[in-house]
Amino acid sequence: MSLKLDKFKEKWARISRLDQSIAVLGWDMETYMPEQGVKPRSEQLALLSELAHEWLTSEEMARSIEEAEQEVRDGDYFSEEVSMVRVARRTYDKRAKIPRDLIARFARMTAQANSIWIKARMNSDFRLFAPVLAELIELNREQAEYLGYKAHPYDALLDLFEPELTTAQVENLFGELKTQLIPLVREITGRKGSPDADFMNQKFSVAQQEAFGLLVLKDMFYDFSRGRQDRSAHPFTTSFTPYDVRITTRFTDDDLISALFSTIHEGGHALYDQGLPVDLVDTPLCQPISLGVHESQSRMWENIVGRSRGFWKHYLPILKTYFPGQFDSVNHEQFYRIINSVKPGFIRVESDELTYNLHIFIRFEIEKDIVAGSVRVDDIPELWNSKYREYLGITPPNDAQGCLQDIHWAHGSIGYFPTYTIGNLLSAQLYGKAIEDRPVITAEIEEGKFHTLLAWLRDKVHKHGSRYTFEELVNTITGGEVRVGPFISYLKDKFYDIYR
Ligand code: ZN
Repeated sequence: MSLKLDKFKEKWARISRLDQSIAVLGWDMETYMPEQGVKPRSEQLALLSELAHEWLTSEEMARSIEEAEQEVRDGDYFSEEVSMVRVARRTYDKRAKIPRDLIARFARMTAQANSIWIKARMNSDFRLFAPVLAELIELNREQAEYLGYKAHPYDALLDLFEPELTTAQVENLFGELKTQLIPLVREITGRKGSPDADFMNQKFSVAQQEAFGLLVLKDMFYDFSRGRQDRSAHPFTTSFTPYDVRITTRFTDDDLISALFSTIHEGGHALYDQGLPVDLVDTPLCQPISLGVHESQSRMWENIVGRSRGFWKHYLPILKTYFPGQFDSVNHEQFYRIINSVKPGFIRVESDELTYNLHIFIRFEIEKDIVAGSVRVDDIPELWNSKYREYLGITPPNDAQGCLQDIHWAHGSIGYFPTYTIGNLLSAQLYGKAIEDRPVITAEIEEGKFHTLLAWLRDKVHKHGSRYTFEELVNTITGGEVRVGPFISYLKDKFYDIYR
């Protein structure tokens, strides 16, 4: 009956499996691979990436997609079959524009850049990283030219992470956010509200931190029979299929907060990946929609849920039993205020919910101008520091705490950062809708129960895979587009209350 579609699915599955294998090698590289493994690993990754690209952009695949399109042409737009072929078409059209050797050069360069970035950051010396970054930016520019764009070369790069999003749209959205957020940050940081954090200046057993994190992950329904947690320099989530979704974290004994919330954050990512449609594994639909949607999930769990008063009603008494004697004098309200204290800082991943997006504005502005060629790589440290002064009123003391802090550029990812802010906006919008649909969610969170919230997310977001685009998803769930308003109201409600 659907011979052509079946043939297409078979071909696509081979590429999916190759991509999954690439992801396994990538995970290994970031977790357990010894230092000297870099060179051969970069060749392995280059080879497999080139092969996957060759299969995807082959004449055969082009024909197979065309035939499948013919076969399903009378089906409903959002039916499984039609959606599957539509997503494949989009992917093919984009990837076919990029020559094979660029894919291989990119893979090789990013695998090597990783270790150079680690060294540069350790020595806090941007000059070590600058030459390789310049090459990565050149590769990105080349890629943008092949992909094509209407207004700005950065459009083509954004599109790789957030399909269809343009530089102009980001500028509009960020512009609106800025006019509301910047005065709010000024107002809040000018108030007194945050109590002494002395009780956080202790040593916390790493083993206990890990155990507590695992407990929270289990409560969130992260399925350990389909996942595991390891350690890495930068926490991340990687998914091979919904049957194997892995997260990483990092611990230090002097910072309980950072590890805990990054665990919840990655847990949020992992729930999305574990919730993708298993019956569609190896098809174009068994993947997340975009990084913005992904980030809406992680930030919702980390911040809206994990940093809420209700959450700690349940978990603070438990935390106390994990760290006997260390939180005896701390009450619920003090703890809640400490984990939500607002303070401009140098490090994006450690920043509070209010100042977080300011870090993103800075990266977006720099990336956009670098890609356009109006800023040179060598100028980044100075530009970075001047923007930190402008937006956050502070000057990073060195490159490690400045422009070398993020791993993204070493991954060759330019155009990735805006998806964090898009995710923040969407998280508030989706959560608002979830509460409206299922008011019981807030009461459940106070008991450490998350099944209603997760069921809602599964039903509205996860189970559809990539059937909808970002816009279609947001419109289907909220009846409109992604907006600044719900996020700002969420921040005002929360922080005006804390900083009365
Ligand atoms: Zn994330």
